[in-house]
Amino acid sequence: MEAVDTVVVGAGVVGLACARALALAGREVLVLEAAAAIGTGVSSRSSEVIHAGIYYPAGSLKAQLGVRGRRLLYDYCAARGVPHRRCGKLIVATADGQEEQLVELQERGALNGVDDLVLISRAAALALEPALACTAALLSPSSGIIDTHALMLAMQGDLEAAGGAVVTRTRVRSGRLEGGGVQLNTEDGTTLRARLLVNCAGLGAQSLAHAIEGFPAERIPPLYLAKGNYFSIARRSPFRHLIYPVPEAAGLGVHLTLDLAGQARFGPDVEWIQRENYDVDPARCSSFYAEIRKYWPGLPEGSLEPAYAGIRPKVQGPGEAAADFVIAGPETHGQPGIVQLFGIESPGITASLAIGEHVAALAGHL
Ligand SMILES: Cc1cc2nc3c(=O)[nH]c(=O)nc-3n(C[C@H](O)[C@H](O)[C@H](O)COP(=O)(O)OP(=O)(O)OC[C@H]3O[C@@H](n4cnc5c(N)ncnc54)[C@H](O)[C@@H]3O)c2cc1C
Repeated sequence: MEAVDTVVVGAGVVGLACARALALAGREVLVLEAAAAIGTGVSSRSSEVIHAGIYYPAGSLKAQLGVRGRRLLYDYCAARGVPHRRCGKLIVATADGQEEQLVELQERGALNGVDDLVLISRAAALALEPALACTAALLSPSSGIIDTHALMLAMQGDLEAAGGAVVTRTRVRSGRLEGGGVQLNTEDGTTLRARLLVNCAGLGAQSLAHAIEGFPAERIPPLYLAKGNYFSIARRSPFRHLIYPVPEAAGLGVHLTLDLAGQARFGPDVEWIQRENYDVDPARCSSFYAEIRKYWPGLPEGSLEPAYAGIRPKVQGPGEAAADFVIAGPETHGQPGIVQLFGIESPGITASLAIGEHVAALAGHL
């Protein structure tokens, strides 16, 4: 049986960031990925926004790792030539009571260490974005956009330069905790022993965790699928900033993001689903027109086209309070040799480098 120090399952942005950090810390790291290429899961179906770190409860992992991750990410992008733009974002008040929500968001952001948020008047917002409708806005200068695939390629490069490797088309089917490590079985019949297993399987994290014999099932949170649909317009965006409404319970509201070519897309909405499915129902565009016209009344009729959908791996269901990332090492679940990551939804891209650091620290003594 082959033996390796560390196996990371999943070559999405989080698995690659963890693998990179562990390899840079001197460990022998193998990433096993079920798909034919890196980054084809949740990481390929996002808004590609570098979040400032405003929304999350103070002290939560989302707040801490989001804010630290954002700082690390801008430095990393600059150092490694990963395409990105610090374009800034406006969170806009468009209805009664929402200006108070902007003040609350500014306070919450400050608690998280986001100290550059500026409340601006309607006139100041329109001076920045003439096509906008709002009564006031919160300007977040440190929000931006990124080419996530280029980020993942850079991380893979660092991993390989540090002696690690990614093996694609290799699904981990099951495993067993034994002797302080893990024995893993892949779908092609290979058995592998690892001193440390890091489960970064995204939407597959819960089913992999349940397939590891000896891991306590009560430590595995449920998985809920919250699909987010996007629509795009076949013209250049009239906006230079990202435009967000005030957030909703399960998502950030149908916002306008830009890609690095200046093209606008709108979404994601929230559609709770039972099974993975990425079709975008064109009929959902009617609610998009209504939501977008609250901040962009000039959105032309007939201009929205179905674009793509992503699925948030949530650990809380419809109507439940927003949950934090779950990153559990032996100090939480009591099992040596395994770190499990569940519910790594937004801001997972932004936080990825900080999640890598955090997991490397958890694994330090294993
Ligand atoms: C709609 C949407 C919008 C988002 N927008 C943003 C944003 O703007 N900014 C931001 O910071 N974050 C955003 N996020 C969050 C971000 O995309 C995720 O947090 C991040 O991509 C998760 O990465 P991951 O590596 O955990 O998962 P994935 O990218 O899904 O990687 C997991 C990998 O594991 C593999 N796998 C699964 N099971 C197995 C197995 N048994 N064996 C081997 N391989 C396996 C899968 O094939 C997959 O490649 C968004 C998410 C969604 C859904």
